[in-house]
Amino acid sequence: MSVSPDAIRRKSAPVAERKPVGRQPRTKAERDVRLQQILDLLQELHPNPKCALDHRNPFELLVATILSAQCTDERVNMVTPELFRAYPTVEAMAGAKVEDVARIVRSTGFFNNKAKNIVGAAQVVLERFQGEVPRTMEELLTIPGAARKTANVVAGSGYGIATGVVVDTHVQRIARRLGLTRETDPVKIERDLMRILPRERWIDFSHQLILHGRARCMARKPNCPACPLDALCFAADKTSAELHVEQSLPAPKQAKPASRATKRN
Ligand code: SF4
Repeated sequence: MSVSPDAIRRKSAPVAERKPVGRQPRTKAERDVRLQQILDLLQELHPNPKCALDHRNPFELLVATILSAQCTDERVNMVTPELFRAYPTVEAMAGAKVEDVARIVRSTGFFNNKAKNIVGAAQVVLERFQGEVPRTMEELLTIPGAARKTANVVAGSGYGIATGVVVDTHVQRIARRLGLTRETDPVKIERDLMRILPRERWIDFSHQLILHGRARCMARKPNCPACPLDALCFAADKTSAELHVEQSLPAPKQAKPASRATKRN
C-alpha cells in the first residue's frame, strides 16, 4: 500500500520521540562493553582518520589550528596556502607584520587577534624553542593562542603524541549524546574522555567523532536511522526515519493566487 506524502507528514514523530534500542548499561562491566562496541564501530566507519587541516609540518599545523577557532577547517584550508607561500618558515612568520598576516587571514574571522597570535607564536617557537614546535602540553601552553585543544591537535596530529583528547564542538556534542560525559565544559569533557578511553585511542577518537559529526550526527537533526551507533545510543534528541523521509519529500504545492487579470463579475 502506498502512503501519501501528506500522510507521512502527519505521522512524523517529533525529534525527541525516538526510543533508544535496548536499555542503558547499568554496571561498569556493561558500560565497558558498550564503550568497546562504540570504539569498534567508529574504527570500522573511519579506519584511517586524518586531521582535516592541511599542513606539511607541526608549525603549519599550529598556525592552522590557531586559525580554526570559530571557523571551518575548509575556510582555513583556503587561506593557509597563501599564508605559507608568503611566510614559508618559522623565521619568516616571526618577522612578519601583524597587519600583513591579518590581511591574508581576514576571512577566518577575529583576524587581528589571530594574526597577532600567529606572529607571536612564531616568535616564541623561534626564541624559546630554537625554531621547533615543542611536543609537551606544558610547553605548548606557553605559545600565544594555544590552549589545551590546540596543544592536543599539534602534539597528536603533528607528532603522534597523545597528550589528551581534542574536544571541539563535534566531540563535545557527540560524547554527550553517547553518554560518555555529562559535562558541558570542554576541559571537563576531556578529563572524562581521558579517564574512560584507552590512551592509544585518544588521537583517532577525536578525528572519528568529528567525521561522524559531519556525516551523520549533525547538531540539528542527526541522521540516527542511518547511524551504525543507533542501537548503542540513548541521546534524547535522536531522530526517526519518518523525519528523514519527510525532509526528503518535495514541499507541498501552494495554491496559486488568483490572477489580477481575472475579470470579476
Ligand atoms: S546520529 Fe543519532 S544514533 Fe548516531 S550517535 Fe548521533 S544521536 Fe546517536
